[in-house]
Amino acid sequence: MAALGTNHRFCLILFGPPGSGKGTQAAILREKHALAHISTGDMLRERLESGDGLGKTVAEIMHSGGLVPDELVNRLVEERIEKPDAQGGFILDGYPRTVAQAALLDGLLQAKQIRAVVIHLKVDYTVIIARLSGRRQCPSCGAVQHFVRNEPTLDLCGKCGSKMVVRDDDRPEVIVQRLKAYDQQTQPVLEYLRGAGYRILEVQGQLRKPEVIASEIGAEIDGEFGVATVRTA
Ligand code: AMP
Repeated sequence: MAALGTNHRFCLILFGPPGSGKGTQAAILREKHALAHISTGDMLRERLESGDGLGKTVAEIMHSGGLVPDELVNRLVEERIEKPDAQGGFILDGYPRTVAQAALLDGLLQAKQIRAVVIHLKVDYTVIIARLSGRRQCPSCGAVQHFVRNEPTLDLCGKCGSKMVVRDDDRPEVIVQRLKAYDQQTQPVLEYLRGAGYRILEVQGQLRKPEVIASEIGAEIDGEFGVATVRTA
């Protein structure tokens, strides 16, 4: 796989509350535009599974709906963007989530001359709560499906057939805490980035098919970065 126009290394920052569709958009856009998908939530979950040292504290924070310390998340991202697959460009999903993270990212992007655009996925909280409480994840392959009442077939993963589970942090009481963390710690990041001169594209993230939203974002990528970014292999 190769990204075209790699002299223009760029970064797409997917911004929005939990359940706004950042992961879904990232999965579509990474394929279509040959970008690395960097999800701090996924990286942290992998870390927990590998059971290394800081596991317990981080697990407790994540399962309660709070935010993991900036230093840890910043280090994960700094290391990740150096990997070969991120050299053409990358999508940030769930990062930055605090102003301190945004400040570090801004410094990194400037130092490495990586251009960036922010996509703000706007979704009402009532829609988010319904989405997150219906979300099921496959413990084997990570696929995500949405459970709709009276649709028992979604009990099993459409990709590998394993039994789907509710993510610990998709329990109702944790959803409330995650939205609180978003309001108090993450929402201010948008103004910080705007103030730092980042272009912010406001995208309606509900009542439209994910593919339609992805093409709107894709058009922005091609327009903003002036390159035809297509997957070549
Ligand atoms: P996500 O999968 O993006 O919803 O993230 C799941 C959980 O991981 C969050 O509720 C946080 O506890 C933690 N997390 C993910 N990204 C970050 C971040 N950038 N800063 C702090 N905590 C994070």
